[in-house]
Amino acid sequence: GKGAAMVTAVAYRLADQSKQIAETLSEFRLTKEQLLEVKERMRIEIQNGLSKSTHDSATVKMLPTYVQSTPDGSENGDFLALDLGGTNFRVLLVKIRSGKRRTVEMHNKIYAIPLEVMQGTGEELFDHIVQCISDFLDYMGMKNTRLPLGFTFSFPCRQTSLDAGILVTWTKGFKATDCEGEDVVGLLRDAIKRREEFDLDVVAIVNDTVGTMMTCAYEEPTCEIGLIAGTGSNACYMEEMRNVEMIEGDEGKMCVNMEWGAFGDNGCLDDIRTEYDRAVDDFSLNPGKQRYEKMCSGMYLGEIVRNILIDLTKRGFLFRGQISETLKTRGIFETKFLSQIESDRLALLQVRSILQHLGLDSTCDDSIIVKEVCGTVSHRAAQLCGAGMAAVVDKIRENRGLDHLNITVGVDGTLYKLHPHFSGIMHQTVNELAPKCNVKFLLSEDGSGKGAALITAVGCRLRQELNN
Ligand code: BGC
Ligand code: MG
Repeated sequence: GKGAAMVTAVAYRLADQSKQIAETLSEFRLTKEQLLEVKERMRIEIQNGLSKSTHDSATVKMLPTYVQSTPDGSENGDFLALDLGGTNFRVLLVKIRSGKRRTVEMHNKIYAIPLEVMQGTGEELFDHIVQCISDFLDYMGMKNTRLPLGFTFSFPCRQTSLDAGILVTWTKGFKATDCEGEDVVGLLRDAIKRREEFDLDVVAIVNDTVGTMMTCAYEEPTCEIGLIAGTGSNACYMEEMRNVEMIEGDEGKMCVNMEWGAFGDNGCLDDIRTEYDRAVDDFSLNPGKQRYEKMCSGMYLGEIVRNILIDLTKRGFLFRGQISETLKTRGIFETKFLSQIESDRLALLQVRSILQHLGLDSTCDDSIIVKEVCGTVSHRAAQLCGAGMAAVVDKIRENRGLDHLNITVGVDGTLYKLHPHFSGIMHQTVNELAPKCNVKFLLSEDGSGKGAALITAVGCRLRQELNN
């Protein structure tokens, strides 16, 4: 009768709905062939960045860092470190002691950088940084010592020495004026002078990937790669000097900051980017830039999810077809929420309460779909990151003419540390795509601060050697 026909109609609609949702999400599911292709393309871009003839037009910039060795345990002294560009801005005091019992003692304070400072003038930004340093020195009672400082600055910088780096472009949430094209160490020194309150000896500018690698290498000498899977995404590794064509000399190695976040900016990933990736890119602070980063890192995964949810809602599959103000708000799905939503220990009821907390009224069916969307987006992110890493380890293996390579990657970043599945999927992808490499991942606790101090220690020693 009529009732049965209605039930059938509803059943058809539901089946069709889940088919359409599955189709939407299937664009995010990459085959092994596609991932191998991504790895291969990364290899090509790495080569373009390293070679003199292609460097200028290369998207993956492969920036020399002037770090030519990993720590050897002889590092010693008290250092100040700054960590700018991740989830938090921090000022640290790092006390490194060499000798039989090596120790590293750290004190740090987290400071907020208000959005209007991140996106205001360069002078305001650096004045704010120096004000935080001033507060920290008061707090530690160290205003009168001229400490050597290592500046972890997690943005692409074209270095001409350990203590000079020209900001190529802001990334992530930063957009302060008058900084791009300027030497960041100069901007910091100027701000310290403007304040006329204390003096510091800026010894090194350090990318967070490099700090992370150095921190892990301090404990584990096979660590020659650094990886950040956090707000942003990037890697560095020890490359043979003969391959670093932008720098004179063929002996030894130098750490290269890959700036792999810009992978794809020449269109080479367009075949796997979805309409949602394009939407996230279009409405970002830096449209067209950091395309790989926008598919793999914490700052953007939530935005991809939000764009998919908006689309599914428009099509009537979610939230009773009602797009709430919350759903229209950029940045609501921070890494910590995605991590909670995807936690296996969580019952659906708890997923609903997280969504509720974000201001989204969901049914039980909604929460199932939301969780699936989050899982699909983070799965692809982890796989893409793994494909990039597979390219790096195979490059190092071939550099050394080895059939088999054992190597360790130092890792840091909120996505890697907080997300319940990201790290596992990433590891597995590296294993599958680079079967000739045995890759260990070592979590670097507080890599940016400690690593910057280690590099600063080496910088101070080299400087003394030059003066003698
Ligand atoms: C920056 C890199 C940095 C990475 C992780 C990217 O946006 O360009 O320099 O290493 O984020 O913080
Ligand atoms: Mg060379």
